[in-house]
Amino acid sequence: MSSSVGNVVNGGVSFWYADDGLPAPREPLPGDASADVVVVGGGYTGLWTAYYLKKAAPSLRVTVLEQKFCGYGASGRNGGWLYNGIAGRDRYARLHGKEAAGRLQRAMNDTVDEVVRVAAEEGIEADVHQGGVLEVAYTPAQLARLKDFHAHELSFGEKDRELYGAKETAERIRIADAVGSTWTPHGARLHPVKLVKGLAAAVEALGVTIHEQTPVTEIRPKHAVTPYGTVRAPYVLRCTEGFTANLKGQRRTWLPMNSSMIATEPLTDDQWARIGWEGRETLGDMAHAYMYAQRTADGRIALGGRGVPYRFGSRTDNDGRTQASTVDALYEILVRLFPSLTGVRVAHAWSGVLGVPRDWCATVTLDRSTGLGWAGGYVGSGVATTNLAGRTLRDLVLRDSGGADATELTGLPWVGHEVRKWEPEPFRWIGVHGMYATYRTADRRETATHSPESSRLARIADRVAGRH
Ligand SMILES: Cc1cc2nc3c(=O)[nH]c(=O)nc-3n(C[C@H](O)[C@H](O)[C@H](O)COP(=O)(O)OP(=O)(O)OC[C@H]3O[C@@H](n4cnc5c(N)ncnc54)[C@H](O)[C@@H]3O)c2cc1C
Repeated sequence: MSSSVGNVVNGGVSFWYADDGLPAPREPLPGDASADVVVVGGGYTGLWTAYYLKKAAPSLRVTVLEQKFCGYGASGRNGGWLYNGIAGRDRYARLHGKEAAGRLQRAMNDTVDEVVRVAAEEGIEADVHQGGVLEVAYTPAQLARLKDFHAHELSFGEKDRELYGAKETAERIRIADAVGSTWTPHGARLHPVKLVKGLAAAVEALGVTIHEQTPVTEIRPKHAVTPYGTVRAPYVLRCTEGFTANLKGQRRTWLPMNSSMIATEPLTDDQWARIGWEGRETLGDMAHAYMYAQRTADGRIALGGRGVPYRFGSRTDNDGRTQASTVDALYEILVRLFPSLTGVRVAHAWSGVLGVPRDWCATVTLDRSTGLGWAGGYVGSGVATTNLAGRTLRDLVLRDSGGADATELTGLPWVGHEVRKWEPEPFRWIGVHGMYATYRTADRRETATHSPESSRLARIADRVAGRH
């Protein structure tokens, strides 16, 4: 495999930046300052929060503090699946009832449309294509899981989801051994960096102050502390996702889980004719160590999955640099799905971090006694969820400051959810590596045995990890 991945560009934050250009960073914080709301972190969560706050209350003084540049984190590195999945919905159904989780699901369905709407309204050209989400099975065990998954999603009120057999799947996309798929219209493909750059520009145009190259070292009630000065504000909102462990006191809050991607060179018309994929759906599979992919606007395949899942001591990567073994593993998945692409060149490989809470449930919270708020723990589903988080943080802040009543969003079951911290090292490292090694073994067994039963190993790994 390595011959095709030999001269791959590695890191450089992500392919999306190689494609669209790294931004010139904005000025750092010049010294002590004050604001009404300070947002820590300039990814989608921080920027959507600033956007909606400023839209709702133009006189609010909102400051965003970003350690590098807006979109440096997962928001500038993701797979560009804008879709209606939210981490933790099933647990929220168990904790708060199916009706409450159904409201959360409907809010997520609407969120996909909201992102598309705002992007159009703000003139953000983010290569959005609303082709829905297609998830494919290519072993009997995957097919059994796919059918269960399909039925489970329908039970949350998703009436427009469809189940396809092998033939209908092949009419959409030719994947080796595909035996079925499920499709929902609630999804779109996009260019993550074009979205985050456009959003930062829109936020700035509304009058939000953005300081980049400004790491926050500590968050205290009413204070965001940086090496260049402290910003004081009644509300301090932590929007730091996979980097949260670097903040004082937050080492074991959310585990920084790694996800890695490759992008091929642009495929020829001939290659595309063999694959199909005219609908440009975002594409996933039903493997335990699943992959996600998109057909980019310039005719590449960008495909991601789990590489080295987690670095000891919650360390993050160096500007997205990725191990050669991970690049090879992703390439293997690519040609496993599309054998006709054997030999195609990988142009770029990169990685990023997701935030994973101990119970795998995304949350949004404002502590009314301290004015500290946060949103995140999206696991791998943040491109849309961050928008719902931003609107919810807006409502929570406006309610607390007396500018508004409780809203439908503040009543959603992920608001104010509390979870225990991760175990200290080395248990964190051993647990996460063990879990992913088990998933890979489970996938290999299912492929080898052709059994329609999901491997028991994967179920055990799920339970140990606290996923179910
Ligand atoms: C490789 C990869 C693929 C993914 N694919 C998908 C996908 O296809 N669909 C999907 O729904 N989700 C996907 N995700 C997840 C999704 O990208 C994230 O959930 C989402 O971008 C999170 O946004 P955020 O703003 O909360 O975090 P981030 O984008 O990580 O932003 C956090 C920001 O805070 C800054 N920061 C951190 N600490 C500090 C500090 N102390 N001081 C100042 N600034 C700080 C960081 O520099 C960063 O810019 C993927 C993630 C990765 C890594």
